[in-house]
Amino acid sequence: MNVLKPISSSMKELSPSYDPWDPITSLRKHGRHVLTSVEMTVTNLCNMRCEHCAVGDALTTREGEMLPLTKMLHRLEEVEHLETISITGGEPMFRAGTVENMIVPLLQYAHERGIRSQINSNLTMPYSRYEQLLPYLDVMHISFNYENGDDFHQVGFANSGHPVSREAAYRLYDTMIENSRRLSADGMFISAESMINYRTHSKLPQIHELIRQMGARRHEVHPMYASSFASSLPVLALKDMMAAIHQLLDARDPEMWMLFGTLPFFACSAEEQDQQLLRRMRTEPNVTLRNDPDGRNRVNVNMFSGDVFVTDFADIAAFGNIESHKLDEIFAEWQTAHPLNQKVNCFCDAAGCCGPNLLVADMYYPNVDFKARKAINL
Ligand code: SF4
Repeated sequence: MNVLKPISSSMKELSPSYDPWDPITSLRKHGRHVLTSVEMTVTNLCNMRCEHCAVGDALTTREGEMLPLTKMLHRLEEVEHLETISITGGEPMFRAGTVENMIVPLLQYAHERGIRSQINSNLTMPYSRYEQLLPYLDVMHISFNYENGDDFHQVGFANSGHPVSREAAYRLYDTMIENSRRLSADGMFISAESMINYRTHSKLPQIHELIRQMGARRHEVHPMYASSFASSLPVLALKDMMAAIHQLLDARDPEMWMLFGTLPFFACSAEEQDQQLLRRMRTEPNVTLRNDPDGRNRVNVNMFSGDVFVTDFADIAAFGNIESHKLDEIFAEWQTAHPLNQKVNCFCDAAGCCGPNLLVADMYYPNVDFKARKAINL
């Protein structure tokens, strides 16, 4: 089923020169960070237990009632500069009821208001669930870190707590690939994200080729976040991460949009190889570097408690609740008063950089004061 998107079709197309999730655009427009993006966690259920899952410790096998949809819609309506929403989990599409009663209405709201939407899914659910999103959804964001079904089996169920057969894993792997091909053919924008970690860094070109064959329009690449399940995995050395990025850029399809996010390389670095990599990324066609939205132009809302967080996975306590406060008010308080935000809240306009991700800064630069640095060599 290929359904027209009457409102979105007249909107600016997402492209390497238009990424409304990047906080740099609203920062330049308003002269300060404003809330333009709201992420909602709509479930803690998931059929997988990935080795690297950044919300793994929050996953459950049962969960209670969500807040009423009307409450969330009301809070979204109040956000003055809202440009994007994201829906995450767990696996948001895990229960058909969540799709029908929460996800589709949220996407319809976004579509009618003319704002962009994204869902994070493992894409292993039945096609009919995804098909319902076709008229409204802008970006289907999936994780893809595998060379084959055996990789998927090994990585995707590492924390299951019980054995998962190779055949069962292959069934899900094949469903994911088939869903991606079919949804892409039906017009859905699939953005496949690969993390760079101890396991993937030597095979990113092969992963990229599979993503291309799955019909994805964009390949996102991020470092692994050392959060939750991933916190016990080996941290990749910066030199290995850099070599992996160069290798990927050498081998990639230059027609495909490649979005690199939360990389631990900055224009304020005195290291020539950091500057060289950044120069390469700025000049390669169809390659973009997205600034980290978390806490800059985006907050996360837990749809069960109403609590508001800087992201769905950082180990930072909630700093507000939508039962009692507007999202713009909660965001303003985080921006002006929260000590963690002050730690990485830097901005170098010429470099198009508004500071590191908190987790990445902690992993690689625990003693660096980014607010005392400035971009160089520009
Ligand atoms: S904004 Fe911060 S991290 Fe980025 S180049 Fe400037 S000082 Fe470095």
